[in-house]
Amino acid sequence: MTEIKLHNNKTRRKEVFTPLNDKNVRMYVCGPTVYDRAHLGNARPVVVFDVLYRLLRHVYGAEQVTYARNFTDVEDKINVRAAETGRKISDITNETIQWFLDDMGALGAMEPNLMPRATEYIPQMVAMIEGLIEKGHAYAAEGHVLFAVDSYKAYGALSGRSVDDMIAGARVEVAPYKKNPMDFVLWKPSDETQPGWESPWSWGRPGWHIECSAMADDLLGANFDIHGGGNDLQFPHHENEIAQSCCANPGSDFAKVWMHNEMLQVEGKKMSKSLGNFFTVRDLLDQGIPGEVIRFVFLSTHYRKPMDWTSEKAREAEKILRRWSEFDGPIGGDENENGAPDSEVIAALCNDLNTHAAISRMHKLFDESKKSANSKAVFKATLNLLGFENLVSSTFKELVTTATIEQQLQTSAPDVYKMLEDCFQKWVSAINEKNFSIADQLRDQLHQAGVVTRTTKDKTTGERVFEYDLDPDVFDASKLEALK
Ligand code: AMP
Ligand code: ZN
Repeated sequence: MTEIKLHNNKTRRKEVFTPLNDKNVRMYVCGPTVYDRAHLGNARPVVVFDVLYRLLRHVYGAEQVTYARNFTDVEDKINVRAAETGRKISDITNETIQWFLDDMGALGAMEPNLMPRATEYIPQMVAMIEGLIEKGHAYAAEGHVLFAVDSYKAYGALSGRSVDDMIAGARVEVAPYKKNPMDFVLWKPSDETQPGWESPWSWGRPGWHIECSAMADDLLGANFDIHGGGNDLQFPHHENEIAQSCCANPGSDFAKVWMHNEMLQVEGKKMSKSLGNFFTVRDLLDQGIPGEVIRFVFLSTHYRKPMDWTSEKAREAEKILRRWSEFDGPIGGDENENGAPDSEVIAALCNDLNTHAAISRMHKLFDESKKSANSKAVFKATLNLLGFENLVSSTFKELVTTATIEQQLQTSAPDVYKMLEDCFQKWVSAINEKNFSIADQLRDQLHQAGVVTRTTKDKTTGERVFEYDLDPDVFDASKLEALK
């Protein structure tokens, strides 16, 4: 059996992965809260754990792997969105779930075999909370139920924090019904504007953390192999999941391996609405950036490193994928299409998902693919393993040819787009001011940066019209810098 090594955040070491049962390899990944389109950062864990899912299926067999990823469809942000828009909560969550599946599908992410929604697991959550109260790990107070962190000695082990550090460092909600400020909510009462369910404590709704514990328990059992999510979830969400699950099932370990992807940034900065660099996956797709390009950029950075999304990387990825998408060329025939994926790429993935090394190897495989039908089949099978099944389909080619690079720049690199427009306007002004030698010089420099300018006459008005075309293969934003 191929050996997979994974960095386990629980032990803080890279370890050989040994499933509890290699006929039933089980993975749980925290999914999105569904009230809005997924932003680009939300897509990172989806792609990272999709790569792992594909690798596990390859190594253990597709039928032997169970991957569960939840939808958080009860949460206060959803209630706020419903109140703002006057829409029904279920309309918002259903719509958002479909958006999420469509957008992640465009990135080549397979759907997990299990996609539970929190609202479908309320009875399991209530039962788990009742068990925690019985065992002395939780208490009811004023319609709420709280988990008593003092009752679980290992609290904080995953993130390596002591309860005192947490109290000092965290913005914990102090409430009169809490025995310890770190105690967290398992159940809370709802008013008539909020969604609610009957329970022994109040007509109310669950706290956020309990859903993952209850769903993982119901779907995967008290002990399973891998638990994943973004780094930001490690504390408090994952710490709380561990506390709930290990106390509800004494003697169990919950997840054996904990994996967290690092955060995504945009052009070196945290993605945020106030910085104007916040965008959704759909924004990029609508601008004609194919999902494969986004996936490629993601895979170029190891999942445990912060990843920087830049328009430069997207352009570079598009160039490479455009070449790869045409690999079908010289050696025809489908009879050799059933090749096995390349062993070096598999070895790279088995080394804690070293997708960067896998991509480097793909360049070599692409060159070799032109030499024989066999190497072509290997290249195709490896592309599939990495989730680029649709690369050779016509949709990818259509997307890259119909999307103008200008459109892409506008969304993904507004600074570069502005610089381009400014340089172009300089050239227009020089002509209008009859500074023809300057205009010619600017034209040549723009040309070197991959921007081809031209003037035409409007057929009806006879006015001079200024235009430019971008050649995506030549375009070099750094050459525009000099023109500013
Ligand atoms: P949320 O809907 O906010 O719970 O997030 C869904 C998933 O996206 C979680 O696994 C988060 O850790 C992850 N996530 C959120 N923002 C980012 C980001 N900027 N980079 C990478 N992952 C993120
Ligand atoms: Zn979770």
